[in-house]
Amino acid sequence: MEFRTEYMQDLMNRVVKNHPAQPEFHQAVKEVLLSMEPVAEKNPQYVQAGIFERIVEPERIVIFRVSWVDDNGNVQVNRGYRVQFNSAIGPYKGGLRLHPSVNLGVIKFLGFEQIFKNSLTGLPMGGGKGGSDFDPKGKSDGEIMRFCQSFMTELCKHIGPDTDVPAGDIGVGGREIGYMFGQYKRLRNEFTGVLTGKGLNYGGSLARTQATGYGLCYFTKEMLATRNESFQGKTVVISGSGNVAIYAAEKATQLGGKVVALSDSNGYIYDENGIDLDAIKQIKEVERKRIKVYVENHPSAKYTEGCKGIWTIPCDIALPCATQNELDGEAAKTLLANGVIAVAEGANMPSTPEAVDAFQAAGILYAPGKASNAGGVATSGLEMSQNSMRYSWTFEEVDEKLQGIMKHIHTIAREAATEYGNPDDYVLGANIAGFLKVADAMYCQGITY
Ligand code: NDP
Repeated sequence: MEFRTEYMQDLMNRVVKNHPAQPEFHQAVKEVLLSMEPVAEKNPQYVQAGIFERIVEPERIVIFRVSWVDDNGNVQVNRGYRVQFNSAIGPYKGGLRLHPSVNLGVIKFLGFEQIFKNSLTGLPMGGGKGGSDFDPKGKSDGEIMRFCQSFMTELCKHIGPDTDVPAGDIGVGGREIGYMFGQYKRLRNEFTGVLTGKGLNYGGSLARTQATGYGLCYFTKEMLATRNESFQGKTVVISGSGNVAIYAAEKATQLGGKVVALSDSNGYIYDENGIDLDAIKQIKEVERKRIKVYVENHPSAKYTEGCKGIWTIPCDIALPCATQNELDGEAAKTLLANGVIAVAEGANMPSTPEAVDAFQAAGILYAPGKASNAGGVATSGLEMSQNSMRYSWTFEEVDEKLQGIMKHIHTIAREAATEYGNPDDYVLGANIAGFLKVADAMYCQGITY
């Protein structure tokens, strides 16, 4: 899609010029600014207050050296990032990613998306994101711990329960959050809710582990219901086999779907009888092994090298839950030719713009990650509330709130999409519904940042 208005095209040109060589950031900004054209026309006060120019510029970026010692006694050096993008509606909130592909542009794209996602949850959270180019694969527990401690030694100067509350993302789960929380507490001598995704015995929330995957399925369920459809009897393909993918698979199965494929960055497994999730949890969460190990004990399953091939498997519902730009135009065409009726993103920006255009042109149900994967950060918001109250809700209480939030996001995205164009355009709806709350808050607070 291209811009209709000179105003937004000019702004986009400036973003590309001022943030060179950051293609993922440009991609995320362009998608949002395209949705903003009708908003700018209807609300001249936002243009006058420079809201669009300000919202694409992070409030603050911190970049720092992270040195640590590996098991052989060698000094290793990585780079750490925290992008504090927007604090108009609450403290910065967003995950930490540990992956060799991390660079400033990737963290900025994620932080930018987080602003709108967090706003959609209805909870008071601003947008931020961080991480490092550290590769956790093949590292010992001791190496992970020393990296996390070194990372937090600098990060702790920039975060706090009322300032910025990081969480997990790719490569950061309960183990890493534990090491980081321990180091924060030691350095600051404070037991506060400075991170979410914590262990249950030191302030974590029940259902946080499941939240993104479960929330994705709750959103998909709402979307399917608009066409009198459900998960019942549907074949489901899910990419990835990390936190989001595993719990999306669990909930899709509970809702009556059959999950036939999962992947990691090396390849994918296909089992037409349905994947054995307990085995996957054992392999990925306990043993931390590669997904191909699954076929050793499951003769009906087949492993194929290369992760992109997963989209050639015929399915009714596709849930990309691995990483950005993992599903391209070609893959979208294949999914459509095989009869897919719904694609909902568990990962952040997994579909390329060509793929999104193909889904929308075909008129299938398509949910962008900032709406459909917001259940994780929503439950992190609930963890923050429980920490402030020094209280814990039961699993059922958190899960019920999560369902309510996902339903609400679906409703407001559809309402905004209806008001500004086409009710089935969840991209337009999510961008606008997320934007309006932040824009109004920025407007009320005057020209500060
Ligand atoms: P995990 O680290 O738990 O799992 C990531 C999965 O994706 C792994 O299976 C991994 O395979 C695969 N993967 C990662 N990078 C690539 C790549 N470059 N190519 C192919 N596969 C890849 O992360 P999460 O499950 O937490 O996150 C997955 C996605 O969901 C990310 O986009 C994240 O931003 C998004 N998300 C996560 C939330 C959360 O609560 N955790 C909340 C909202 C969004 P391998 O093991 O081989 O690397």
